[in-house]
Amino acid sequence: MEPTFEAAPGVLGIDTRMTGRAVVTSAYLVAASEPVLIETGPTTSVDAVTLGLRSLGVGERDLAHIVVTHIHLDHAGGVGTLAARFPKATVWVHERGAPHLQDPSKLLASAGRVYGEQRLRGLFGPMDPVPADRLRSVADGDTIPLGDRTLEVLYTPGHASHHISLVESGSGALWTGDALGIHLPDVGVLRPATPPPDIDLDTAAESIERIRRRAQTVLMFSHYGPVREVDEMCELATARWRKWADIVREALDQTAELDRVTEILRRRTASEFDEATEPAAAMERYEVLSSMEMNAAGLVRYWEKREEREKREEREKREEREKREEREKREEREKREERPQAP
Ligand SMILES: [Zn+2]
Repeated sequence: MEPTFEAAPGVLGIDTRMTGRAVVTSAYLVAASEPVLIETGPTTSVDAVTLGLRSLGVGERDLAHIVVTHIHLDHAGGVGTLAARFPKATVWVHERGAPHLQDPSKLLASAGRVYGEQRLRGLFGPMDPVPADRLRSVADGDTIPLGDRTLEVLYTPGHASHHISLVESGSGALWTGDALGIHLPDVGVLRPATPPPDIDLDTAAESIERIRRRAQTVLMFSHYGPVREVDEMCELATARWRKWADIVREALDQTAELDRVTEILRRRTASEFDEATEPAAAMERYEVLSSMEMNAAGLVRYWEKREEREKREEREKREEREKREEREKREEREKREERPQAP
C-alpha cells in the first residue's frame, strides 16, 4: 500500500510506518485552509509523518494544527517532536490529556508498567513534551477552527477516560481513535482494544452509540484507514467489547492468573480471525498494537475496579442505613423522655 492515500474528499491518510510495519497506524491530513494533522504516531514515526506531509505539499511552516484523539503513545507519542518541527502548529487534546502532553513523565511511567521499559522504548522511542503556549485543551462540543473547515469534538471515553472523536465539516468524516477497536483493512477483522488502566465497558458502549448516531459518511480508524459501513461496524464493536468482557469475567471465576485468563480469551476469540487471509501474519500486527495479554489485563482490572466499587457502594449504603436507624432510635428515646411525667 502507498505511504499516503485518499481517505475522503480533502482528507489524506499517511502511513506512520509504526515499528517499521506498513498499514498498522495511520495519521491524517485534512487539507483545509489551515491544514491539520490528526494523530501523530509515536516518536519513531516522526520522519515518516514529516515525509508524508511534505509529499502532500505541507512544509514546516504550513501546518496550522495537530489534534490527537487520545494520548496513548501510538497516537500521540510523536506530538512534541512534531510540534518542534512544525513551529506554527497549535496542538489540541482533551483537557484530561493536556497535562500529560506538557509533562509526559507520568504517562511514560504508566506505559512502562504496561509494556515493560525496554519494549516501550523499542516500540515507541522517547516522548518530547509540548510547550504550554502551544497546547490547547478541548472538551465535548468544542469546535476546532481550520479556516474553511472545522473539527467538532465528541467526548467518547471508554477506551481511555480522555478519549475524543472528531467530526470534520467538509467531508463528514468521523475519527474514531481507538473507541471502536482495531480494524486493519487488508485483514478485515475488528478487534477490541482494552488496555489498562482505565477502560470502561458501559462508557465505551455509550460512546460507540454516540459515534454511530453522529457519523454521516465514513469512520476514520487510526488502525487503519476509512470504513464506510458505519452501522455494521459500530454494532460489531459493541458486541465484541461485551463478548470479550464477559469471557474475562467468566475466566476470573476459574483463575486469577493473568496468563491463564489471556489463554482463555485467546482461545475463545480465535474464530474472529477465521475470515483473515493469513491469520498468523495478521494476528502479529494486531498483537503489536494491543496484545491479547494487554487486553486481558485491561479487562481484569476493569472487573476488579467494578467489584471494588460495588462493594464500596454496598458498604456506604449499609452504613447510611445503620446511621439512620441509630438516629431514629435516639429521637424515639428523646421523645419518650420529654413526655411530661405524671405528677
Ligand atoms: Zn489507545
